[in-house]
Order: sequence, then C-alpha cells, then structure tokens
Amino acid sequence: MRTQDYKMLIGGEWLSAESGEYFQSINPYNQEEWARVPRADAADVNAAVKAAHEAFTIGPWSKMIPSERGALLRKLGDLIAQNVKELATLETRDNGKLYAEMSAQVGYIPQWYYYFGGLADKIEGMVHPTDKPDMFNYSRHEPYGVVAAITAWNSPLLLAAYKLAPALAAGNTVVLKPSEHASCSTLQFARLFEQAGFPAGVVNVITGYGSEMGDDLTGHPQVSKISFTGSEATGRHINEIAGGDFKSTTLELGGKSPNIVFADANLDNAANGVIAGILAASGQTCVAGSRLLLQDSIYDAFLERVMTIARDAKLGDPMLPDTNIGPVASKDQYDKINRCLEMAMAEGANCILGGPADKNPEAGQGLFIQPTIFTNVSNNMHIAQEEVFGPVLSVIRFKDEKEAIEIANDTRYGLAAGIWSQNMKRCLELPAKIKAGTVWVNTYRVVSYMTPFGGYKVSGTGKENGIEAIKQYLQMKSVWLSTAETSSNPFLIR
Ligand code: NAD
Repeated sequence: MRTQDYKMLIGGEWLSAESGEYFQSINPYNQEEWARVPRADAADVNAAVKAAHEAFTIGPWSKMIPSERGALLRKLGDLIAQNVKELATLETRDNGKLYAEMSAQVGYIPQWYYYFGGLADKIEGMVHPTDKPDMFNYSRHEPYGVVAAITAWNSPLLLAAYKLAPALAAGNTVVLKPSEHASCSTLQFARLFEQAGFPAGVVNVITGYGSEMGDDLTGHPQVSKISFTGSEATGRHINEIAGGDFKSTTLELGGKSPNIVFADANLDNAANGVIAGILAASGQTCVAGSRLLLQDSIYDAFLERVMTIARDAKLGDPMLPDTNIGPVASKDQYDKINRCLEMAMAEGANCILGGPADKNPEAGQGLFIQPTIFTNVSNNMHIAQEEVFGPVLSVIRFKDEKEAIEIANDTRYGLAAGIWSQNMKRCLELPAKIKAGTVWVNTYRVVSYMTPFGGYKVSGTGKENGIEAIKQYLQMKSVWLSTAETSSNPFLIR
C-alpha cells in the first residue's frame, strides 16, 4: 500500500511539523507502514495553543450565541454520519480493532454531537437567595478557554467525542492530541470541522509522541483545562503538572474490573457477558472485565461454558465480518501482554487456555494474542491487580456475597464492575457496595452519550457523558450587585 502523509490542523491551516519530522503508522494486522504522521514538538504545540487561545479570546467563537454553537455541533454530527465507512476503516487500520465494531462505534458518535449540541443553549445560571436585603447575587457558568484533549489509541474518535462535544458546547476551544499509535482517523475527522463551518482555531489537532511533547501541551500557560484518557501512569504525571498550576482536569484512566457471577445467574447470558467483557476489542478496553469472580457451586460448569465460547473465537483479519478477535494494536502492547502472561505463570496461576504464544499461524502475520484464561488466581497476584489490556481473564473463586464484594473492591482501580444474578434484592443492593464508577447488572460494556461515565479511585476523576459532562468544561462565577443608595463602612465586611 502507498504510504500517505497526513497533516495537522492548526489555526485553520493544514501543516506538517515545523521540524519536518514524521513518525510511521503501522497496520497491526500486516505490520506494514501505511501512513506518516507529523511529529510535533514544542513549537507546534505552541502554535496550536496560540491558535486556540486567539479563537477563544478574539475570534468569533465566544461571541457566537450558544444556539449557533449547537447548530455547528449538530452539523458536525451529520457529517460524521456521512463518513462512517472511511473513518471506521482508518481506525481499524490504525489500531487493529474489528471493522464491525469500529463502524458501529463511529456510527454512534454523531449522537454525542447532537446531544451536547442540544445542551449548548441550555446552560443556565441561577439567582441565589441572599441574607443581604440590598444585594443581588447570581451565578454564571463560563467556559475555561483552551482545553487540551488527549486520547488513547483504543477508540480515538469515540474518546474524542466524549471530550470535544461537551467542551465545544460549553464554549471552549480545543487542542486535540490523539495517541501516536492511532492518529490518522482523528486527522481525517478534523476535516469535518472545516466542512461544518467551525471558525479557524476552535479545534486544532496536533500529533506526536506524548512522551516528547505532552508536557509542552499540558504545562502550556494558556491551557486552562486538561481532559485526558489513557493509562494510570500518564494520568498521574499529568495530574502533577496540572496541580502545579491548579488547572482543572478530567482524567479517565485504567481498570481491573470484576465480573461477578453468582450461582443464581442466568448462566448463558452471564457467559456471553463475560466473553464480551474480556474478548471484545481483544480485551483492549478500559472497562475490560478482566477478573471473573465465580461462585464455588457453579465454578466448573460455568468455566466450561466460557471456555467453549473462547476456544471457538476466530482470530484474523479485522476487516472481515466473521473475525471475532483482531490483532492487538502495537508491538509494544503485544510484548507487554506476553510479559504479563509469563509473570502470571511464574506466580503460580494455571493457564487453561491460550497463554504466552508466538503468532497464531492461522491468523496471518499480525500481533495476535490467543484468548487466555488463568485459574488458580488469588487476588493479590500481579495478573489480578495490574491492567493487562489484552484478551486475558483471571478466574477467582468466592463462597458468598460478602467475599465477592471484598475481592471485587480489593483493587486500587474502580472503573467498572459486572454483577450476574437473578436475585432482585442482590441486584438492587450490590451496586451500592461496589467501589466503581459504573456497575452493570446482568449486562456489560454498555455506554451512552446520555449517562455518566468515569472512574473511582485511581481509575480517574470527573465524569464524561450525560449532563454532568458539560459541567466539567464550565467554571462557575458568582456576581454581586448592590442596590444600596449609600455605601457602608469600607473597613467592615458585609
Ligand atoms: P497512554 O497513557 O500511554 O497514552 C494516552 C495518551 O497520552 C496518548 O495520546 C499519549 O500520547 C499521551 N501522553 C503520553 N505521555 C504524555 C504526557 N507526558 N503528557 C501528555 N500526554 C501524554 O495510554 P494508552 O496506552 O494510549 O491507552 C491505554 C490506557 O488508556 C489504558 O490504561 C486504558 O485503560 C486507558 N483508557 C481509559 C479509558 C477510560 O475512559 N477510563 C478509555 C480508554 C482507555
């Protein structure tokens, strides 16, 4: 395939990096370089932030009435809907996830822009009652200014929508930085902002290695808000930089989510949910149900059901409709997963399916990890505590509800959890006892633009999606007006 050179969008212009440097985009299925992406450095970051800052302070964006901003967002949604095939193909080529999944996901993304476009003109302040008879107080919700939006490689455009739709609806401008492992769909998507009629500089997209230019972006004095999706380690680092200047952050980080199956569950549904939680997207989702907590009395029978589905999963070309599992996204990711698998075995976990392996000969030359299941796992093992980000399931036994809750919560993460049971009392009571930002009961991996999403504990801070999300991009101002005819003693506070 002929290599294509992409450009970045800065201040309404399509630019290469000032240094002229590029990095490669490699298709994880066939390991071929298929595109070159600008390798931005501090100079490009500065140009992008400057463009966003000017668009916010002197450009037409902040003077536009909110309904106009909403209309632009809805137009953008329409354009995404018209470009699903192209955008989803780029995502599959970049990160190796199934085209069937990416096309469904990209097809859903317009809803974010419609929903938050609809909220743009519904941001209401309030008149507050006060205890001072000659004073009037009201609050306003104002945008921060320039938002740095940084995304992970596993769902570049969906994660961008989580951030851009509320940030823009709230009146901010944005510098968006996709992952170096999957930048092309975001650069292609950026063209739609021009087509929709967004003023120059309102959305800027820069590409590069986070380790090289990330600090230039998050530490830039004109960036007022950081919205980040990625690993715990990078999240911690960004939090330190942001904290130095008290910048507002929304951080969506990793997870080690438990999928808890009780003996009274509908076992067919639960088995499908467990598989969806860990094998979909080759396990490369932040909400992967990577710990299967299984009640003693159904342990063997349920495990057999899961094994049967996992054994039959077809690895192969992610573009083909009958493929169940594509390659993992990069050689780094492939090596990291294999290291985790070797460590699990060294710790004494029993590998009953898959395991550290060379390329699957039937699946082409891609970076394939076989569906892998470990038993004999105790919750303090590395494999039960660290995020693998691959199709790797650790099975842990429990006796009763109390023990299940203890194991489920015994992790520094708190992104999500699944509960499978037909006992209504348990289904109603257990979600309150699980320390996670999302709990699914008799389902798994469901998200919507309308409902809040975000982590507890080290899985992050802040919420994306739903009405809460727009508040992440607004700061509240309190305004006092005096109606007093004479001013009071200036040395006494009122
Ligand atoms: P990562 O932390 O390596 O990279 C994420 C982004 O941060 C990339 O764009 C990268 O270039 C950038 N980055 C790296 N160093 C930076 C720095 N110093 N300053 C600013 N930006 C920097 O994560 P990844 O490997 O791309 O993604 C996988 C991780 O993301 C997993 O831990 C997964 O759980 C998490 N994730 C979380 C969610 C969620 O919503 N909670 C969703 C998807 C993925």
